[in-house]
Amino acid sequence: MAEARSRQIIIAGAGIAGLTAALAFAVRGYPVRVFERAPRLDEVGAGIQLSPNATRILDRLGVLPGLRHSAVRPDAVVMRDASNLSEIGRVQLGAAAEWRWKAPYLTAHRADLQSALLAHVAREPGIQLTTGTAVRDVTLHPLGVTASIETAGRVDQTTGMLAVGADGVWSDMRRLVGGETKSRFSGQVAWRRTIRAESPAGSTLARIGIGGVVTAFLAPGFHLITYPVRAGAALNLAAFTHGNAIGETWSGKMDTQVLKHAMRRTAPALAKLADDTGEWTVWPIHTARQGGPWTSPGGIALIGDAAHAMTPYAAQGAAMAIEDAETLAGHMLANPNSVAAALAAWEKERRKRIERVARRGRLNRMTWHAAGPVAMARNFVLRMRTPEKLATGLDWLYGWKPPALKL
Ligand SMILES: Cc1cc2nc3c(=O)[nH]c(=O)nc-3n(C[C@H](O)[C@H](O)[C@H](O)COP(=O)(O)OP(=O)(O)OC[C@H]3O[C@@H](n4cnc5c(N)ncnc54)[C@H](O)[C@@H]3O)c2cc1C
Repeated sequence: MAEARSRQIIIAGAGIAGLTAALAFAVRGYPVRVFERAPRLDEVGAGIQLSPNATRILDRLGVLPGLRHSAVRPDAVVMRDASNLSEIGRVQLGAAAEWRWKAPYLTAHRADLQSALLAHVAREPGIQLTTGTAVRDVTLHPLGVTASIETAGRVDQTTGMLAVGADGVWSDMRRLVGGETKSRFSGQVAWRRTIRAESPAGSTLARIGIGGVVTAFLAPGFHLITYPVRAGAALNLAAFTHGNAIGETWSGKMDTQVLKHAMRRTAPALAKLADDTGEWTVWPIHTARQGGPWTSPGGIALIGDAAHAMTPYAAQGAAMAIEDAETLAGHMLANPNSVAAALAAWEKERRKRIERVARRGRLNRMTWHAAGPVAMARNFVLRMRTPEKLATGLDWLYGWKPPALKL
């Protein structure tokens, strides 16, 4: 008798992309196995902004209620000139975002997002998550895919209809679709720190007026983002400067002289933060080659940073991973007889959006880090735009909804 084709979905990686994909497939009735290389799912201490295009999907998957108590719904995104702290632009969020984009704009600690995703994954009987196990290889055959998975030196095999590479910016699965294994160092690093809102540095920032909002302080070759997390009890700081390639890590160290130098022309209250706030964790910003392949028609798809790691200047990497996960599961369900057709339709649809978002990130970096007359022109243009006009410019990004695919 002919062997039956498995409907199992095999996912490499239990980051935001992998966990969201597991839920998106499970709610559509697919059995899912997630393999995570790390022995434990510890999340480095940092924050994340979740725009309405992402929270809409998290809500649909039932994850949002588990995040609400710890996430913050900021009132606005405020841009300030870092040299004199003056406000140069504002986008209303809070209730205005929910009214306009029909989903909340939230800021959260990554550990809180991961806990909410994991709690939901644990409740889904169709999902089996195994940590300490890496996906090493995937072979394609007429009945689907076979993944080789390695646990403590022992290699086993599991079969399915689709293997999803959600293995991040330093993806190994990328080579299986014919892509470049090496990610590219952007020349930029992110300095990250979470501080207590009631600490001296938190009080200094509160006096500048950062309470309850996302603030971007802009300076030549530098910007600093601050926003509340942990129900407002903590503040996430992320500063972006030039830096060195310090290896494949989310939590490296670098001499803070680099940060102090980048902040030397910012207002004294800000510049002091480079000293005040103790130890910073440094994330080297890597990107995946633009235009590289994301799918293999026989049954492999890359999602999230594995497919299209981008610079974080539009704060959309995780949002794109969440969108990828939801749309991939939708396309698979809509094309039950052809994995190849599902993957081709999905990749075509996603490329346009991802390219537009990546372009937006590049534009943000150029204008946010501008100096001299370009910075003056930026400030002038932003000051002339009303919050309403600035929000209109974000409708395509935050108002996005997954195409009407069956749940
Ligand atoms: C400074 C900074 C700020 C950011 N801010 C925002 C923001 O505000 N909003 C936003 O939307 N995005 C933001 N991003 C982007 C966002 O963090 C990433 O896009 C997102 O975390 C990518 O998730 P992922 O699941 O694709 O990858 P990852 O989170 O890297 O997860 C990949 C997982 O795969 C595992 N893995 C690797 N290889 C294997 C294997 N062979 N087998 C099994 N498991 C494997 C890894 O251990 C890891 O757990 C920011 C990024 C940076 C650098």
